[in-house]
Amino acid sequence: MSALPVIATADARRVVEEAKRRRTFAIISHPDAGKTTLTEKLLLYAGAVGEAGSVTARKGRKAATSDWMELERRRGISVTSTVLRFEHDGVVFNLLDTPGHKDFSEDTLRVLAAVDCAVILVDAARGVEPQTEQLFRVARARGIPLLAFVNKYDRPGLEPLEMLDHLTDTLELPLAPLTWPVGIPGAFRGVIDRRDDTFHRFERTTGGAGIAPERIMNARGQGDAEDDAAWAVAEEELELVDEVGSAFDLDAFLRGEQIPLLFGSAAWNFGVGLLLGVIRDLAPPALPRPADDGTPRPVDDPFAALVFKVQANMDPRHRDRVAFIRINSGRFERGMRVTNARTGRTLALSFAHEVFGQDRSSLDEAFPGDVVGVVIGGDVRVGDTLFIGSTVHFPPIPTLTPESFVTISNRDVGRHKQFHRGLEQLDQEGVIHVLRRAHNQDPVPVLGGVGPMQFEVAVERLKTEFGADVHTQMLPWAAARRTDAEGAIKVLADPGATDVFVRGDGTHLAVFPNRFVLERFAQRNPNVQLDRLIGAD
Ligand code: GDP
Repeated sequence: MSALPVIATADARRVVEEAKRRRTFAIISHPDAGKTTLTEKLLLYAGAVGEAGSVTARKGRKAATSDWMELERRRGISVTSTVLRFEHDGVVFNLLDTPGHKDFSEDTLRVLAAVDCAVILVDAARGVEPQTEQLFRVARARGIPLLAFVNKYDRPGLEPLEMLDHLTDTLELPLAPLTWPVGIPGAFRGVIDRRDDTFHRFERTTGGAGIAPERIMNARGQGDAEDDAAWAVAEEELELVDEVGSAFDLDAFLRGEQIPLLFGSAAWNFGVGLLLGVIRDLAPPALPRPADDGTPRPVDDPFAALVFKVQANMDPRHRDRVAFIRINSGRFERGMRVTNARTGRTLALSFAHEVFGQDRSSLDEAFPGDVVGVVIGGDVRVGDTLFIGSTVHFPPIPTLTPESFVTISNRDVGRHKQFHRGLEQLDQEGVIHVLRRAHNQDPVPVLGGVGPMQFEVAVERLKTEFGADVHTQMLPWAAARRTDAEGAIKVLADPGATDVFVRGDGTHLAVFPNRFVLERFAQRNPNVQLDRLIGAD
């Protein structure tokens, strides 16, 4: 036997081993539920940072170095996703951040295409807020394993049984509590770990900057009197849960059919170590991902990755574009040449960045499950597959159907070129849908998105990155469906208030002032094609 196949086998073995120790996940939540705090605390418990607060500090710096992120700072929301990688207990975690605001749900949807598991973070007092229900629905529809963490238990909120009921109703999946709170919200003593019946008693630390002192006791009656009383209530509640609730079932969780539930307080570090342990022990590693023909691609196949986010001008000093790729198979090496399955063109992944907030450190190799930011020059878009060897396409990333529309016009005719280049860039990045009217030669572009805040980002970026001064005007459409050319003619001929827009790729979007008009039109015209974009929402 020649030496080559032996090396190849050793390489393949290494890729399989590395894929096995990856845990790639996202935290999805409503703004203010505590995602940033929890992220910091996970890093703290994993030993990736010495003291909590460093992520926030980076967040501050990031806002200072990039103009359009000024919007993010002003609004106090996260517009872009951040990728954090940290290693703990031999496991490599890739934590993908997601924007909490509903208007940026599209971004979250893309992140969900790149992760193997998601943590649903819920505020103990507010529960699941209507704005996030759609996101959770999308996460569920993707069939990825979901975990739920009820945060802020140090403050008054829903009692645990009430919370369990509420979550079962809104998430529409059975939940299996892995931990159970001892003490009511606001007078939280700790949690019972149902897996081994231990009681994790927490003590408050000032500010919660360090790891919380935590005493693990293996039976009731070892704490003080108040603990005992709280424990008795918790045990009674657990008896009820045992009777009517679901026992944890690993396979059901991995199929995305049951949600393990944990309680805690990110600010006070209660239950954060347990959550990290659960992700390490229960969340799936990087597994073979199906290509668009449904065949799972073994992780030790040649390199293949999915582009799930493209971000221009992350760093104004470089003015470059970064594609975030999720590696699905093979070993990533800095400088490797890959082919883009959509264009057939090859490109070199010359500069790879491990992204931690805004800081970039060069990365030489990465494995299935890892998320890497690569600097790109040519035509690379969200949903593209980059590969080595024989062609592979991963399935398209679903896109939410736009519900908000504006016309966008250029105020400065001298900057016509910049305006159009900017729009093309935003369209390619998938920041917004750039549309045109179908029925006449009206040159004024229309933007479509999930919510108005997406347009604010577009306007700000056109100004700061392309020097284009633009004006937007809200349009009266609030519902849209994809149709074909024939359907478009029917929609335009309808006496009701409707219109049709066309996307750069030729997709026709029929738009309606509201859901009722849309439904009435659909009833009257049963033969007209009216679909959601890619059936995600
Ligand atoms: P994000 O918008 O989801 O990233 O939320 P943040 O992490 O910024 O938290 C929002 C607010 O909730 C901040 O004022 C946090 O200090 C606070 N917070 C986060 N976790 C907890 C918690 O466990 N208990 C309490 N009392 N406050 C918390």
